[in-house]
Amino acid sequence: QSREPDDYQERPAKRHAGDVEMVVDHYNLRPEVGVKQRKESPIIGLKNFNNWVKSVLITQFGHPALASSSSKKRGKVLDMGCGKGGDLIKWGKARIREMLAVDIAHVSVEQARHRWATMRPRRFDASFAALDCYTEPLTKVFTPEQLAQPFDVVSMQFCMHYAFETAQKARCMLENVSEWLRPGGIFLGTVPNADQLLARLDQLPADSEDLSFGNSVYKIRFEERTSRPLFGHRYYFYLRDAVDNVPEYIVEWDNFVQMAAQYGLHPVFKKEFHEVFEENREHEDFKQLMVRMNVCDATGASSMEDEEWEAVNIYIAFAFEKR
Ligand code: SAM
Repeated sequence: QSREPDDYQERPAKRHAGDVEMVVDHYNLRPEVGVKQRKESPIIGLKNFNNWVKSVLITQFGHPALASSSSKKRGKVLDMGCGKGGDLIKWGKARIREMLAVDIAHVSVEQARHRWATMRPRRFDASFAALDCYTEPLTKVFTPEQLAQPFDVVSMQFCMHYAFETAQKARCMLENVSEWLRPGGIFLGTVPNADQLLARLDQLPADSEDLSFGNSVYKIRFEERTSRPLFGHRYYFYLRDAVDNVPEYIVEWDNFVQMAAQYGLHPVFKKEFHEVFEENREHEDFKQLMVRMNVCDATGASSMEDEEWEAVNIYIAFAFEKR
């Protein structure tokens, strides 16, 4: 399909009524479970692996940006789509000075705030706010004083794809990422791999009416076989014990890169999760971290089932630098 370089600017905004509400309700209604129950999750191997990939990404790209921060004691991070605060410990280990965190799901935001408030030791200052950061600016919830010192890192983990419902939302998201990120700062994240999802869609039998694929751990269902818009290309995502058929959108990489460039953001890293694994499994620090995070045992044997492995590999990790 041929695409004009800037054709998203010409497209009228097409909203899918009710999708945002489904996403918000889904995340607000997911109960916060304790450590014990978390360990008993049927997809604990997958969850641990995802956390390991995020730790590698934060260490490889977040730490250097934080270390070169102009602020006296390490740096400042914005976590957009912070969820229940699953990355707070990772940022604590990065010895940041301050974090601002937002998410559209207000219940999750309260859980993240509580998690931070009960962290021992509590190593950094943090402010949390409920915000739809794909339609509203950070200034809606943070004061000019809170935003005065620019961010060294902006992190968007497993959440950016919801912004690609419309070009306007993707632009608002990028505006929020870039506006308060210092030059030389890093924007990092994790997102489903559009190329892989669309290749899997193409592999479905030509006469199949069911446009879904996956296994007992995850399932992706498209509604359309041929139409491939750059925005609003919706599919439904199911992940066992985590996500119940929530609408998500394809993030076409070249389109994302091209848009990001208009906000001074340039890609420095893009890898599929299995590549992150293969490249770092022998790295001394990350190998030890894998054992500590129960991604594998001391012999290097993975704690993930094959079906979980297939599910984690629909994602890519990325990093952009602000210039
Ligand atoms: N980043 C967290 C993590 O890695 O654990 C949470 C990831 S969760 C899969 C996706 C998150 O994106 C949810 O918490 C959801 O509420 C949030 N989200 C979706 N749309 C959003 C929006 N418009 N503005 C802010 N957050 C949004």
